[in-house]
Amino acid sequence: TTLVNCNLAKDKGEAFVHNVFSNVADSYDKMNDLMSGGIHRLWKCYFIKTLDPLKSTHLLDVAGGTGDIAFRFLDHMKCKYPNDKSHKVTVCDINENMLEVGKKRAVKHGYDDSLIEWVHGDAQKLPFPDNSFDAYTISFGIRNVVNIDAALQESYRVLKPGGIFLCLEFSKVRTPVIADLYDLYSLNIIPVMGEVVAGDWRSYQYLVESIRKFPDQKDFADMIRSAGFHLVSYKNLTQGVAAIHMGYKR
Ligand code: SAM
Repeated sequence: TTLVNCNLAKDKGEAFVHNVFSNVADSYDKMNDLMSGGIHRLWKCYFIKTLDPLKSTHLLDVAGGTGDIAFRFLDHMKCKYPNDKSHKVTVCDINENMLEVGKKRAVKHGYDDSLIEWVHGDAQKLPFPDNSFDAYTISFGIRNVVNIDAALQESYRVLKPGGIFLCLEFSKVRTPVIADLYDLYSLNIIPVMGEVVAGDWRSYQYLVESIRKFPDQKDFADMIRSAGFHLVSYKNLTQGVAAIHMGYKR
């Protein structure tokens, strides 16, 4: 197929990834719904349920982009602890364009800005002191990070002892027929949608390609363990199209 033969992802550095997200920032939320048929919303809801944050949690959402996880966290806390304002979410992303879209969404949807902060920073070198956060999330972000091991080590560093690491990411489908259908869809349809809806074939082709290059469930769990986390586990979502990995800082 076009994708298998293409060299797009070779030597993809930070500048390339930065450009991709600058290009897609304005269309990102619309494209997420279109490409996943809205399923990413269910995955993200389940992700927050799995996190099951305690009262006063300070969450760090890395590669937080336009704020999807942060907003769901705040909605969840509002529902679970009405009137409580002791929790907080820090959204950290390397791309200011994505953060700007997120800030506008926060205003539009009326989120209390004392509960959310937006920080420009790199997952591989987080601008936070050691032992700062109760929870660390990264949703559809870690596969875009050039040095995944460095990002995992940083997540471990900034978490408080006992803190939880939770990652939502595309993963490997193991059921053969579904894997074939998924390949057909992602390789042939997503870049076309990217071109038609956002006028940007190349960025969406990169996004598909980055999914295919990402380690499978078991290998990624091993990488999380290597960063020092314990009680590492994962759950497949939609036959492994995505997976949630979790672990705890000792
Ligand atoms: N977390 C959001 C979500 O689930 O919808 C956004 C995911 S978006 C696919 C990936 C995000 O990762 C982009 O906003 C991009 O700027 C960010 N990103 C890529 N490399 C990064 C890095 N090294 N550090 C922090 N963010 C990064």
